[in-house]
Amino acid sequence: MEKNYIKKIKEFYHQYLNIRSLRVRIFLIVLVVGIVPSVAMRYGIMRNYEQRAVELRTATVQSQLRVIADHLINEDYLNMRSSSALSLEYSNTSSSRVINAELEMLSNLYDGRVQIISGNLRIVKDTYSISEGKTIISEEVIKCFMGESLSNYDAQNGYIEITIPIIDNRNVGEGGSEGAGPNPRVKGVMLTSLSTDYIMETMEVLSRKAMILEALMIMAIVVIALILSIVLTRPFERVTKVINDVKAGYSNESISVPDLAETEHIVEAFNQLLQRMKVLDDSRQEFVSNVSHELKTPLTSMKVLADSLLVQEDVPAELYQEFMEDIVSEIDRENRIITDLLTLVKMDKKVSALNIASVNVNDLTELILKRLRPIARKKDVEVVFESVRPVTAEVDEVKMTLVMSNLVENAIKYNKEHGWVKVVLDADHQYFTFEVSDSGIGIPEDSLAQIYERFYRVDKSHSREIGGTGLGLAITKNAVLMHRGSITVTSTEGEGSTFLVKIPLNYVSQ
Ligand code: ADP
Repeated sequence: MEKNYIKKIKEFYHQYLNIRSLRVRIFLIVLVVGIVPSVAMRYGIMRNYEQRAVELRTATVQSQLRVIADHLINEDYLNMRSSSALSLEYSNTSSSRVINAELEMLSNLYDGRVQIISGNLRIVKDTYSISEGKTIISEEVIKCFMGESLSNYDAQNGYIEITIPIIDNRNVGEGGSEGAGPNPRVKGVMLTSLSTDYIMETMEVLSRKAMILEALMIMAIVVIALILSIVLTRPFERVTKVINDVKAGYSNESISVPDLAETEHIVEAFNQLLQRMKVLDDSRQEFVSNVSHELKTPLTSMKVLADSLLVQEDVPAELYQEFMEDIVSEIDRENRIITDLLTLVKMDKKVSALNIASVNVNDLTELILKRLRPIARKKDVEVVFESVRPVTAEVDEVKMTLVMSNLVENAIKYNKEHGWVKVVLDADHQYFTFEVSDSGIGIPEDSLAQIYERFYRVDKSHSREIGGTGLGLAITKNAVLMHRGSITVTSTEGEGSTFLVKIPLNYVSQ
């Protein structure tokens, strides 16, 4: 019960939380691709709105300030206010009252403070009435006296500061009594700070709405990501399921999951693997049955021979002798099959890795031919050796002996009376070639592809007669391949065969 629970948690982890899972990756990618732009868009819109609102407000207030600045010049407001003697009288004049009212209106309308600074840097008017009469020296004011209009937005403290020069355009070059600054036409400066509370409030409302929209979008994106991650990975789950079915033995047939091109490729590769395994399994079964059959044949002959001796009474000694000789030759045969089988199995298992050494191939061939000549003589077959050049190669001497003696032995065995066998040894800078031709019975064309198979014999009874096991060429081919060489055969039935072995002079391990 508890184990089941743990298994389920593990499964859940692998399917939904493991970052290596394609499903989790698709989910995260869709999530990031969906959410990042929506958040960036909200941020961008908010920033844009703020910038636009500040610019607009600054432009409006600047133009209004310019109108008032013109009024100030026309009414000579600055001169009147700055001269303290006149100030009292002036403040009661109607034009002063009008200008003051305009300034008050401006500061109320935009929730700001307007200060007017005269040429000698004195504040002659402050709508907050705090700094009147004081002197102000700031970078903005000085710059403004040079004729520059400035504006500065302080987002942190929530205000816009606008500074505009009060320019007298009436009599150029005839500056007033206090216009002694760097630009004589600038008679004073209007310094205004406006609160941006209104903009902030609007932004808050906007931000709240955008956030609700964004939350809805994120929810939709999460749902889409979830659906996509499940739908896109489902074919892979199906592949796992069908493969598991095959593994469990429910089916042995080729599988198919055509949902995606990728799953099709995986399944195709799996089917090929299945096919190969089937072929391997079939050939293993065939091999086992062949081995059993081959081993049984000599045993059956021996039993028949022994039985016939047993059932007969007073068997003459000569018959005993004859039957016993037959039994011994069957035992020899059994022995040969087992020895060949062991050689083959050893090669298959690759337990005996190659024992590579530099070998004089000419000497080796001479030695092999010397050993086989007595057999040839018995059949009256002439064996000729032609060595085109001296050859020294990096080979496994034992396995190369197997290759050469199997080929020459076959050439002698499957020859005609008074026939010949020719062995030619040659080399180029990369390979040496060992060619064995004979004047023998030849191999039918449709058998050429099969002669390297284990236990394959063109003529079973003939081969058995002359002591063949059907394993010689299988061993030969294996040994050649282990040396990364090649073996080819050409043959004409009734005329003879030629086997050509090509082996690299220098052995290169994998
Ligand atoms: P075997 O032990 O029967 O000779 P091999 O594997 O050496 O087995 O050869 C397989 C079969 O190929 C032989 O049974 C024979 O029919 C054919 N064969 C091999 N070499 C020759 C050859 N030189 N000439 C004709 N037939 C050959």
